[in-house]
Amino acid sequence: MGIVVQKYGGSSVADPTAIKRVARRIVQAKKDGHDVVVAVSAMGDTTDELLDKAQAVSPLPPARELDMLLTAGERISMALVAMAISDLGFSARSFTGSQAGVITDSVHGKAKIIDVTPGRIQEAIADGHIVIVAGFQGVSQDTKEITTLGRGGTDTTAVALAAALKADVCEIYTDVDGVFTADPRIVPAARKLDTVTYEEMLELAACGAKILHLRCVEYARRYDIPIHVRSSFSQLHGTIVRGSIDDIPVLKGKSMEAAIIAGVAHDRSEAKITVVGVPDKVGEAARIFTALAEAQINLDMIVQNVSAAATNLTDISFTLPRTDGQVAMTALAGLQATIGFQTLLYDETVGKVSLIGAGMRSHPGVTAKFFAAIADAGVNLGMISTSEIRISVIVDEADVDAAVAAAHTAFDLDATEVEAVVYGGSGR
Ligand code: ADP
Ligand code: ASP
Ligand code: MG
Repeated sequence: MGIVVQKYGGSSVADPTAIKRVARRIVQAKKDGHDVVVAVSAMGDTTDELLDKAQAVSPLPPARELDMLLTAGERISMALVAMAISDLGFSARSFTGSQAGVITDSVHGKAKIIDVTPGRIQEAIADGHIVIVAGFQGVSQDTKEITTLGRGGTDTTAVALAAALKADVCEIYTDVDGVFTADPRIVPAARKLDTVTYEEMLELAACGAKILHLRCVEYARRYDIPIHVRSSFSQLHGTIVRGSIDDIPVLKGKSMEAAIIAGVAHDRSEAKITVVGVPDKVGEAARIFTALAEAQINLDMIVQNVSAAATNLTDISFTLPRTDGQVAMTALAGLQATIGFQTLLYDETVGKVSLIGAGMRSHPGVTAKFFAAIADAGVNLGMISTSEIRISVIVDEADVDAAVAAAHTAFDLDATEVEAVVYGGSGR
């Protein structure tokens, strides 16, 4: 039998009891005849706690040192999982990302995996060991520094290992039974999806459904690795992420109605910046966005108002990760004299709600129904953006739950019997 790659998230290894449970599950896969490679996250909310500690000593810690600190979280859990396995009479070897051959670019805090050289993993497998790899980390090819892959990055470690080792499947074990039509923490009537295509999962992940890290889905699609998202707390079959929206067989068996919408995602991690009173001249937007790109900031939605005829001034608003807010404001403030805009506004009380589904390509009226549902819930729309299979809106952060629930109901996604169990995790 082939290699199985498994990933256990923070809530699955939150305490010694959880670690022992996970160890039994890993050993079972070995007993079933597989070679087993496991990527582990830090225990429980360890990463958040380490971030809090960093904040307490420095409001803007050096990125290199932050990565050194955060990678310690996964290092603790990998060793403990290996010990628990050894206690069950099986031999395990733990490796840091660097030892496991996870090679990244040199961007601290959101490094991209550029190669995996799994020599040490393969040797350990050949020697009969179960391999445990610290997730979320790698080593930069250029700088030789330790890097992290961004929050939730252990999912990406797992898929990258699965691709490098030519595993048949990558199993992502978490605290819910699979990918649901909405976050079960805010929509108890959410339904589990049996399968979801890479494209839909990419949109869900990009729109805040933190069940899978965005890069992990990109990686899985590129190397055609099926992902099985399932609970480490139950034996239920989860959700298989595979196939393309152009693959009819994936949608076969579902009625056309069911396939229109895959789910509703929400995101409370963004902020909105408005550059007020920008002179409406050629090149000003380019200057603004070049400065942000040079600061390595990824923008999401962008809106430019029509300029007022009297003043010939326009406002440009965009959304970005809250964690990049300070850096973006500093970069833009540096442009004020050159561009001559009036002022900068920063708003963290925004949230994004997105509707995702391959079926909206062929079904007119989806946008109208989505907007009507949100209006009926008494929620005001801010910015709007769309792709072929997604509609996203910015709303007040306080209105996110109501908007998600309204859209979920409007598109008949509510389950008749509640099946969404949240087994653990603090939702942090
Ligand atoms: P892990 O620690 O296992 O990586 P995460 O907290 O990162 O777990 O991701 C699992 C969580 O993702 C769930 O507990 C759930 O609250 C959240 N989530 C958001 N959207 C969805 C969705 N569409 N389906 C399932 N879970 C979702
Ligand atoms: N421990 C990291 C985080 O909390 C990575 C992960 O869990 O995937 O974001
Ligand atoms: Mg996660």
